[in-house]
Amino acid sequence: MNRKRFVAGNWKMNTSMNEGFQLLKDIMDRVSESDLETCDVSIFAPFTHLKVFQNTLNGSLMQLGAQNCHHEEAGAYTGEISADMLASVPVAQVLVGHSERRQYFGETNELLAKKVDQVLKHGMQAVYCYGETLDQREDESYIEVVTNQISTGLFHLSAEEIVKVTLAYEPVWAIGTGKTASAGQAQEIHAHTRSILREKYGEEISAQLRILYGGSVKPSNALELFSMPDIDGGLIGGAALNAQSFEAIIKA
Ligand code: PEP
Repeated sequence: MNRKRFVAGNWKMNTSMNEGFQLLKDIMDRVSESDLETCDVSIFAPFTHLKVFQNTLNGSLMQLGAQNCHHEEAGAYTGEISADMLASVPVAQVLVGHSERRQYFGETNELLAKKVDQVLKHGMQAVYCYGETLDQREDESYIEVVTNQISTGLFHLSAEEIVKVTLAYEPVWAIGTGKTASAGQAQEIHAHTRSILREKYGEEISAQLRILYGGSVKPSNALELFSMPDIDGGLIGGAALNAQSFEAIIKA
């Protein structure tokens, strides 16, 4: 199965409107249409930037994503952003379950299942993040932890729905720490992920689903990680804030 590569930049809570606009323009100048024919590229920008970015990207193959949404449809949730609002921008994708949301905002697998439903209901794709903490890796419970994150967050979806989801394995101990999982460590979890997707949805669907790796991906390690058979691209944090590094990762 030939899965199209996918590199996504998660800007987190970084860049003013002007800085963000300049960074987007720099990335657009560097990433060619031929890069985008072989690799999907999406920018997960802060909410405040989305409409301007959508206008700027109009006509480009580069896609736009949001970093979060609320799990309810609408209502008295001051300060929150709904999937319906994001679809009206429009954005193509929404990140669900980033470890920083799980860790700092107490998001559980059960809550994330509802967010995934909202994203799909409004016609967008979900990028569902999962991954173990350092303690869970060291006490060897990590396979069980990631299995539970995937099954509770996603396995209520039908076959027609799951194909609108990209998975992103991000070991918490590797995010923003400079410590990357080795290509072998990442491949182990990616292969496990694909095997549980196969058990649940069958060979054809599991072979078509994309599984990204995230956690201190940089130009120097991207090629080795992306060469693994079950790693289909990357979710990039720090290195996505530098147009040159982001371009080099896309080219890898
Ligand atoms: C992330 O935020 O999803 C991420 C992987 O960050 P970093 O690349 O900085 O580790």
